[in-house]
Amino acid sequence: MKLPTFPAGEVWLVGAGPGDAGLLTLHAVNALGQADVVVYDALIGEDVLGYARDGAELVFLGKRGGQPSPKQSEITTRLISYAHDGKRVLRLKGGDPFMFGRGAEEVADLVAADIPFRVIPGITAGIGGLAYAGVAVTSRDVNSSVIFLTGHDQRGHSPDTVDWTATAKAGMIVMYMAMRNMAEIADKLIAGGRPSDDPVCVVANATTPDMQVLDTTLQRAAADIAACGICAPAIVSIGRGNLLRETLNWCGA
Ligand code: SAH
Repeated sequence: MKLPTFPAGEVWLVGAGPGDAGLLTLHAVNALGQADVVVYDALIGEDVLGYARDGAELVFLGKRGGQPSPKQSEITTRLISYAHDGKRVLRLKGGDPFMFGRGAEEVADLVAADIPFRVIPGITAGIGGLAYAGVAVTSRDVNSSVIFLTGHDQRGHSPDTVDWTATAKAGMIVMYMAMRNMAEIADKLIAGGRPSDDPVCVVANATTPDMQVLDTTLQRAAADIAACGICAPAIVSIGRGNLLRETLNWCGA
């Protein structure tokens, strides 16, 4: 199969998957092998960066050690300026660039600046990361719908724009960035009709050697998270589909 050549002056927005470098796509590896500069996010591991070609410039632009994240405008200004310098610019993002990754905003800025681009999707943590814990986000007899949502808005609260009663009806609820607001979210879902004993699975650092899994219930989730010290980055899945872990848990986490 002939994979595409990376033209100078283009920006490719690439999903790196949730951590395990084996989950990179052929397109991602092909792009990493050609890029002149790789601008990467906080959740990108060294194994993944190891696929960058020798001599590529690796630029970290993410949130580090409690520092505020760089502004979106700062990131796109850098991408555009590298492209104007005639570089092959690879913007590497954890998981999938369009799943809570602000990929759409970055692309919009590239379009506005007339920079040619390509998007290479990645495996998102909310599907692939859960699969490493034996959680199938859909399964015919147990859950026939799944909803993906972020657990915090720009102010850091649980998002107001979510219809919690409608969300409570989904077969499976898969949440990103939800750890800090778990108590508030659980209250809203229970008020919206979700059973308080609904199974919850928290998967931290999914697919990496540091992966940790906590099985709990909606009512107990926030307290159990605090008690066992499991921390972000983590995916929280809510629903009876989590019970399938008993049979599907192939990595024993
Ligand atoms: N674009 C990414 C999500 C970015 S938002 C994707 O598609 O996966 C960042 C959040 O993603 C984290 O706070 C966490 O909720 C989740 N996440 C990303 N990588 C993860 C991992 N390896 N394990 C668990 N959660 C992860």
